[in-house]
Amino acid sequence: RAKAQGPRSYHFYTRDLDEQLHERMQLEQAMRRGLERGQFLLHYQPRMDMRDNRMLSMEALIRWQHPDWGMVMPGRFIPLAEETGLIIELGSEVLRQACLQLKSWQSSGRPLLPLAINLSPREFHQTDLLERIMGIMEEYEVDTRLIEFEITESAAMSSVEQTIDILSQLTRMGFRISIDDFGTAYSSLNYLKRLPVQSLKIDQSFVKDLANDPAAHPEDAAIIRAIIGLAGNLGLEVIAEGVETTAQRDFLLKHGCPVGQGYLFSRPVAAAEIETRFTA
Ligand code: C2E
Ligand code: MG
Ligand code: MG
Ligand code: MG
Repeated sequence: RAKAQGPRSYHFYTRDLDEQLHERMQLEQAMRRGLERGQFLLHYQPRMDMRDNRMLSMEALIRWQHPDWGMVMPGRFIPLAEETGLIIELGSEVLRQACLQLKSWQSSGRPLLPLAINLSPREFHQTDLLERIMGIMEEYEVDTRLIEFEITESAAMSSVEQTIDILSQLTRMGFRISIDDFGTAYSSLNYLKRLPVQSLKIDQSFVKDLANDPAAHPEDAAIIRAIIGLAGNLGLEVIAEGVETTAQRDFLLKHGCPVGQGYLFSRPVAAAEIETRFTA
């Protein structure tokens, strides 16, 4: 299109790029300021035993409460944080807040449920990840067994030996590990078998199309059944993401996946709201 319209459109094109660059710089700067000013907070989404509607654990999901833009979702800023390296600081902030929250629940005598935290690829492969995590855990004196790290299948598969090494160390430190967005990265089963992880999270894209009529989506249904079977055979737990309807829940239960997470049970909510769902 630029060619056909001659040189004038070239200017539009470069201005577009300039604008994009400018926007990115603004966003990056705003993120730094936001970190300094404590604008990032965690929301919590329950993972349920779908057989009896009991909350088993929670996933922490970051939100950015910006004074002008309102609530900014992670899809809008995590990619840029990854690119710029800000993810390291953001990740530390997430772990600190998670620890503070666990301690606060503990001291108020609430039942302590494990909390899952997402690690993005760059964070996961950062050289001093383990030192950084351990430093925070020691500072806040939180039991590592209460924290689970979620790493995406694609991040886990990107450099095999290094991944196994890091995950083994995290496991030795007492953390639990799950593979997020499972089924999207075509991992080799031979490799999966070597990973020291406890659970697989079925990516929500597979669950999505089962919303009303699982029989109408035989491929997704087959993939889900295959992942459930695989997890069972490898001795891993399995968690379904993105459960929004009773049809999805019933399908998962029928095929041997009792643990689910999704809007059917709860959206991710602020700490004060998730507390009302704790049962003593
Ligand atoms: P994820 O870890 O796979 O998290 C699941 C996403 O699905 C969350 O989106 C969650 O709100 C959403 N979700 C949960 N249940 C349902 C449902 O029933 N239907 C639908 N349509 N969606 C559902 P969210 O909070 O926007 O987070 C998006 C992604 O951003 C996360 O995907 C994760 O990769 C990343 N992320 C979130 N928080 C953090 C964080 O603290 N650190 C890092 N590194 N990444 C994070
Ligand atoms: Mg996750
Ligand atoms: Mg996921
Ligand atoms: Mg995801």
